[in-house]
Amino acid sequence: MRFSTKAIHAGQQPDPLAGAVMMPVYLTSTYVQEELGKNKGYVYGRVSNPTRTALEQNIAALENGKHGMAFGSGMAAIDAIFRLLKPGDHVILSHNVYGGTYRIGKMVWEDFGLQFEFVNTTNLTLVKKSIRKSTKMIFVETPTNPTMEVSDLSAIASLAKKHRLISVCDNTFATPYLQRPLEHGIDVVVHSLTKYLNGHSDMLGGLIVTNNAKISERLRFFQKSTGGILSPFDAWLCLRGVKTLAIRMEKHGESALHIAKWLSTQNKIKKVNYPGLPSHPQHKLAKRQMKNFGGMIAFDLGSLADAKKFLKRVKLCALAESLGGVETLISHPATMTHASIPYAQRQKIGVTDGLVRISVGLEDVDDIIDDLARALR
Ligand SMILES: *Cc1c(COP(=O)(O)O)cnc(C)c1O
Repeated sequence: MRFSTKAIHAGQQPDPLAGAVMMPVYLTSTYVQEELGKNKGYVYGRVSNPTRTALEQNIAALENGKHGMAFGSGMAAIDAIFRLLKPGDHVILSHNVYGGTYRIGKMVWEDFGLQFEFVNTTNLTLVKKSIRKSTKMIFVETPTNPTMEVSDLSAIASLAKKHRLISVCDNTFATPYLQRPLEHGIDVVVHSLTKYLNGHSDMLGGLIVTNNAKISERLRFFQKSTGGILSPFDAWLCLRGVKTLAIRMEKHGESALHIAKWLSTQNKIKKVNYPGLPSHPQHKLAKRQMKNFGGMIAFDLGSLADAKKFLKRVKLCALAESLGGVETLISHPATMTHASIPYAQRQKIGVTDGLVRISVGLEDVDDIIDDLARALR
């Protein structure tokens, strides 16, 4: 099956009771057992739920992976990934990963003996230099949030293999429609379902996909043991959202490219970060690695004061955290999503005070441009 067919059908068969075409929401905490040791594969809601299983199989199929594990949020999924490690282990991460990933590493897991080093993963030489004896994992995000840097997944995966590291890719920004990290040799893919996969800004969730049986077994054990699992209703919402992923991502990418080109002609804007522009430092790599360039753009207005004024004046673009919904959202990374990163580190990774991030929605692109143009004026 091809991508959009899988998005609609993978993991879902008509319900055997009534023939319902849509996957039912199984709202139950427990399942009756026929006799001791005999059940239908479901025994307790924390361990598994048919609606959740359908979503896990669906997203795994889209990533061309074998095993899917759903969690209550993207952060719960990322937390489970770090649990694969032991005290003393060293992790290399892209230097501008999602703010929450930085926070859980530095402010939660370092207290339990893990070590996190943030490296510019677009530069393979730097990544190689950062590998120590204790390095066990390399965690990349591409494109990164919010500066839209692109890392070479095949190169990272082969470097990780050579040094026997677990390679992880946060694929939230691209989605499996635009890029499939497992096909590049990456071991583990993680998603915030909250964003493009659900696509309608009405649930939170996280999901991990891997082909590695040992890693998946361990992650399933964490689902059951720590309980940070996805609810059946949220799994159902996401199943519904994923059905339109292919056409949504086509349109997000088309509109974003149009807006990025327009932004780069505006003299009040100092810089536009979008992998689809030839001026982007990894444009060629993005072209090779991604189907289109996605719906996220970051641009620099030069100062906090100008960013503040601009964000106050937009009307259609809603000032809010998050991304990937049908509606256009606009945000200020330095004070919102990336506020937990110290000032000096923010400057280093390009999260300047004038930087504004836009998640281009599915409205008419000319209405989005009109709104941005009015605010700029
Ligand atoms: C939002 C996000 C997360 C965290 O996901 P939640 O569902 O909000 O917990 C992780 N990585 C990226 C790239 C994100 O955008």
